[in-house]
Amino acid sequence: MRWSPRVTISNHLVDPVALAGELIRRPSVTPHDEGAIALLASTLESLGFACHRLVFSEPGTADIVNLYARLGSDGRNFCFAGHTDVVPPGDPAHWSVAPFAGTVVDGELRGRGAADMKGAIACFAAAAARFIASRGPDFDGSISLLITGDEEGVSINGTRKVLDWLKSRGERLDACIVGEPTNAATLGDMVKIGRRGSLTGTLTVHGTQGHTAYPHLADNPVHRLVDMLHAVTAAPLDDGTAHFQPSTLQVSTIDVGNPAANVIPAEARAVFNIRFNDGWTGDRLEAWLREKFDAIGGRYDLAIRVSGESFLTPPGPVSDILSTAIERTLGRKPELSTTGGTSDARFIHSFCPIAEFGLVGLTMHKVDERVAVADIAALTEIYRTVLDLYFPPR
Ligand SMILES: [Zn+2]
Repeated sequence: MRWSPRVTISNHLVDPVALAGELIRRPSVTPHDEGAIALLASTLESLGFACHRLVFSEPGTADIVNLYARLGSDGRNFCFAGHTDVVPPGDPAHWSVAPFAGTVVDGELRGRGAADMKGAIACFAAAAARFIASRGPDFDGSISLLITGDEEGVSINGTRKVLDWLKSRGERLDACIVGEPTNAATLGDMVKIGRRGSLTGTLTVHGTQGHTAYPHLADNPVHRLVDMLHAVTAAPLDDGTAHFQPSTLQVSTIDVGNPAANVIPAEARAVFNIRFNDGWTGDRLEAWLREKFDAIGGRYDLAIRVSGESFLTPPGPVSDILSTAIERTLGRKPELSTTGGTSDARFIHSFCPIAEFGLVGLTMHKVDERVAVADIAALTEIYRTVLDLYFPPR
């Protein structure tokens, strides 16, 4: 059985499955918006939110549409954060449904963004609607949504700039949940309380070209490159920390591009990626790498890009409330984890305590991305319970 639900807002309640389906039908592959933010804004406006459409751009980057929506003007401000942009679907022929149709098949909402993370955004709106319906708009606090269209891409004109904008207006966030699909297999598996950092290094070793039969007249950069990579892969970087796995270094590619077996090349290059825990910073890792490479010696260049430092919100109020809401709704206690890739929580964590919890991520970025309709209902209830716990009735 398949159907394509339409959004209806009756009695100020939002149907999260229908809203998620409508969002999926806006094919907002980064950096395009295709009306996704406007749809969400009009839904939130109908609930009483004040919506700010924030378009940011920079030379050489595409314009990005972002949204900051807030209900209420005083008290503590609880923020739901996420992204409406999605990764490309690949060849639609490989999908069992049209990737942007937002179709419900056999109890699952299918389409690009269902899990990552239009489903969770729809749950944010539906949870806020339910909370307001039961408590009225005067709950002595504020609920906000910080939604970007630039998370899956370079993340230059997204969350970071929205946070700068908030700061310039004196706007405060007091607690935040990011709705990334944190659950590995089943809803309620996992809350993320931090993330590892990511450093990519490009190592270019210079030598002197020559004949392989006359190596004393040349200087082979490949041998030194191999020694350098061995020096940084021979032993683990660390043993892990209280809330993190051990850091890891993986060599992604080694490139020499030498077509001739009898020529010593002039240059050899490798790219590696380090996922690091809170025992390191990008700067400290770079110093460690240079120390190791200097010990091998010779001429080399090392280009470093840190796409995110590691961060942690130690178990505390936000993760406690979230865990309680999950346990009440599903009868399951989530693991508090720092595994996986990075997210926009890396920008928000310095503003307020933060935790991440969304749908099941099994199919994210894959063909036939999908989530159970029952999970969307349960996640809405979890987010609503979070609001109830954060703003206890007086
Ligand atoms: Zn995501």
